[in-house]
Formats: sequence, structure tokens, C-alpha cells
Amino acid sequence: MFLIDCPWCGPRQQTEFHCQGEAHIARPKDPDALSDEEWANYVFNRTNPKGVHFERWVHNHGCRRWFNVARDTVTDRILAIYRMGEKRPKVKS
Ligand SMILES: [Zn+2]
Repeated sequence: MFLIDCPWCGPRQQTEFHCQGEAHIARPKDPDALSDEEWANYVFNRTNPKGVHFERWVHNHGCRRWFNVARDTVTDRILAIYRMGEKRPKVKS
């Protein structure tokens, strides 16, 4: 277990949060123009990297707000936490 530094509440136990998958997945502007394969790729396929992964988290047992986390999937270390709408930070694992 580790602490996550919520941008609004400060450090809290990991059990107060939920990871909701990869961050920065933009919904296609014109879904009707996509092929079935392109739509399936948008809905189902994610990067799943070994190393730095950008994720969406929600503080569901606290302020219930969303934010992004850059986490190293090998060490489970959090490299950066930033609010929704902010640019993806440059981080190294
Ligand atoms: Zn919070």
C-alpha cells in the first residue's frame, strides 16, 4: 500500500482511490466515420507499457475528483500527479 497525493486533498491511502485506465484517450470526433476495426481499437486497445504509464485515477472515497497519474508499472512508483486538462508531464522511470 502507498500514499497518493490527491491534487485537492493531499496525501491519502491508496485504498481511497481507483485507477480507471489509461489517460489521454481522446474520443474520435466523428465516430460514424470510423471502420469497425478503428472503433474497436478506440474502445478496447490500450498501450499496457512496461515502464511509464499515464493513468486516470479518481478519489472515490474522498473528494470524488479525477486526476492523472504517471506511474512506473515495473516499480509501482508514482512519477507525477496532475489535474485533468493539464499537459502530460515529461517523466523518466
Ligand atoms: Zn481528493
